[in-house]
Amino acid sequence: MTTAFITGISGQDGGYLAELLLAEGAVVHGLVRDPADAEQVRQLVPAAVLHEGDLNDVQRTTGLISELQPDEVYNLAGISSVARSWEQPVATGLVSGIAAAALMHAAFEVGEATGRSVRVIQASSAEIFGNPAVSPQDEQTAVNPITPYGAAKAYAHQMVGIYRTRGLHAVSMVLYNHESPRRPPTFVTRKITQGAARIARGLAGELSMGNLDARRDWGWAPDYVAAMVLAARHPTANDYVIATGESHSVREFVEVAFRHAGVDDWERYVRVDPQFVRPVDAVELTGNADRARRDLGWAPTVGFAELVGRMVDADLR
Ligand code: NAP
Repeated sequence: MTTAFITGISGQDGGYLAELLLAEGAVVHGLVRDPADAEQVRQLVPAAVLHEGDLNDVQRTTGLISELQPDEVYNLAGISSVARSWEQPVATGLVSGIAAAALMHAAFEVGEATGRSVRVIQASSAEIFGNPAVSPQDEQTAVNPITPYGAAKAYAHQMVGIYRTRGLHAVSMVLYNHESPRRPPTFVTRKITQGAARIARGLAGELSMGNLDARRDWGWAPDYVAAMVLAARHPTANDYVIATGESHSVREFVEVAFRHAGVDDWERYVRVDPQFVRPVDAVELTGNADRARRDLGWAPTVGFAELVGRMVDADLR
């Protein structure tokens, strides 16, 4: 029976991943930082075994890994918002960069001590590419971050490669944006779907937005955690871009969301507010997931309009 350890189990991806692993009979352990989060996670995935701790507490995470001796470690914890990384660049570097390296080292040491192969999946991000010169990006695209979030993820991504050369089954999943009704409203997609639902219900009169021209490759979050499991189980470790290959502008997201909520004249309600425009922002990120298709047999299952519709429906409810 597989034993998995998930950091960030209280997040969007952590919940979906725990559900997936438990459904296939794995024993799931999760790290939670905040006891209030633990209660919510227990409601969502009662069978998961929760351990309180901060990813920055290296002794704690190292101790847990040597005690649990998991087959699979999924490192999903971190400061996951680019906007927050501008406010807390150092904390972002510590939790999304340094702490990830500590986790890999702990898994490596368990492997050395026991001879067992511990598989480590690192949740990386398309933000490691910054403002790339090529589109779509793939695993060969130059790592050249332009945000504190991207820089922290880039460090962890490179440490994955370093530990892989030391023999660890370490995988960096270069994830493009993936969404669901579980996305917090601090993220632009959920802000839009929540705003559209409120306006459609007459509960709000306006939605303030940042750059409507930014383009992103948006996928369905459960598809992305399924890719992580496939990569953990693959006979060889590698890095994988996980993306739909299609990019859409924030403006298109707004339009599809409002129309789905029954508001056709969306422009009346949307205001561009400079305070929501980021200091620097990648203009367009689109991923080429051919390697994941070829090696892992992975493909996205939910298209753009369907994804937006599912989020709006959840918010209307
Ligand atoms: P999320 O919902 O923000 O979840 C992040 C999790 O990390 C939360 O459970 C959070 O717990 C935990 N965490 C933060 N700091 C911690 C610390 N110091 N110690 C322990 N736990 C800590 O993020 P997500 O959308 O599920 O994304 C999962 C991972 O994929 C993240 O690393 C993210 O950067 C990466 N990623 C996501 C996307 C995307 O589109 N979703 C795209 C590319 C990469 P608290 O509630 O205590 O803060």
